[in-house]
Amino acid sequence: MKSVVTEPGSVLGVLGGGQLGAMFTMAARRLGYPVAVWDPDPEAPAHPIATYSFPLPFNDQHMVAQFADLVSVVTYEWENIPAELCRALEQRKPVRPSSAVLSVIQDRLDQKGFLASNGFPIPPFACLTSPGHLAETVSQVGYPALCKTATAGYDGKGQWRIFRESDVREVEQALSESVRPGMRWIVESLVPFERELSILVVRGADGQSCTYPLAENEHEEGILRTTKVPAPGSSALAERAAALALHVVDRLGGVGVFCLELFQLPSGELLINEIAPRPHNSGHYTLDACSVSQFEQQVRVTSGMPLGEVRLLSPAVMVNLIGNDAAILMKGAGCRTLLDIPGAVLHLYGKRAIRPRRKMGHVTFLGETLSLALDHAKQFRNSLTNGSALSA
Ligand code: AMP
Repeated sequence: MKSVVTEPGSVLGVLGGGQLGAMFTMAARRLGYPVAVWDPDPEAPAHPIATYSFPLPFNDQHMVAQFADLVSVVTYEWENIPAELCRALEQRKPVRPSSAVLSVIQDRLDQKGFLASNGFPIPPFACLTSPGHLAETVSQVGYPALCKTATAGYDGKGQWRIFRESDVREVEQALSESVRPGMRWIVESLVPFERELSILVVRGADGQSCTYPLAENEHEEGILRTTKVPAPGSSALAERAAALALHVVDRLGGVGVFCLELFQLPSGELLINEIAPRPHNSGHYTLDACSVSQFEQQVRVTSGMPLGEVRLLSPAVMVNLIGNDAAILMKGAGCRTLLDIPGAVLHLYGKRAIRPRRKMGHVTFLGETLSLALDHAKQFRNSLTNGSALSA
């Protein structure tokens, strides 16, 4: 495999300027790389910290050449950026992960097809091409099932649960209302998992790779709420997850930071929910609890530098600040009270508009033991639930 090395001083390009792009930018700038951020949203958090900022639509053809001339190498912060843009940039500069990898991942059906054809463990699934065929498609995987848009869904958006036959009509109606030409959906068996886990993998252009500790995740309404690291459980389970994750990314031929989202069944079996071709929300704890963060790894792997040694320096619990959480925190003495909690590290993304379900920031609680970190995280979460308690 061709290995291109980009030394500090050369410009790194990132597509997407949300919080992931912003944390990548901060890591890159600390290592001496100027960063060019391309995101259509002028208020995207990465723009103000970028060296070069391009708040332009992704289909701006003039920008493709200008961006490619400016940067030495390109990466991206999420999988829903246009694959054709990556292909166009790839004609001129390396893109990591490649547009071929992105194409497989950004369509849930293609991704599950790749995993199934390589014998990786996943929930049973079927392809739906027309809302009118929903009943027969669900019968292929059985009830209860989950229907997801094949592309562009995230954080539980574009998902419908179908518990029994009588739910089909309502979901069919919802699909018909949002259908576009050529649209497809994936229908999956709704897995009765015991818990959700995730694991980060970093893989370089030379095929060298490493994993981070297994993390346990809790979701609310399809959005990540809390991550605990290391995930409680046996070391054998963590080793099995790491081996699976390395194997998947190796098969994919991925160069970059990847995250495997997993379901653990009551039997202990692991099923893959999905692969993210980028740093992941469940890996934000690495900023404060690891020797090298997932964002620094993205910088290293994008620029062709050696991968960083992964060492967990402290158990950690990460709590996302979603929607109104940020308003509660900013009220009165909320931030001061939080920062008074031992081991609490606050990250606010600088998004001006607070909207329901919007990720506004996160807090990492570090503790000598996971149980101590959990106590502090629980105290904080309770105070968020009580609304004004933080500012009392
Ligand atoms: P996704 O957008 O696919 O990551 O799904 C968001 C969340 O929905 C996951 O974190 C799970 O909590 C839940 N979910 C997704 N797929 C399944 C499934 N096949 N069975 C059970 N729960 C699921």
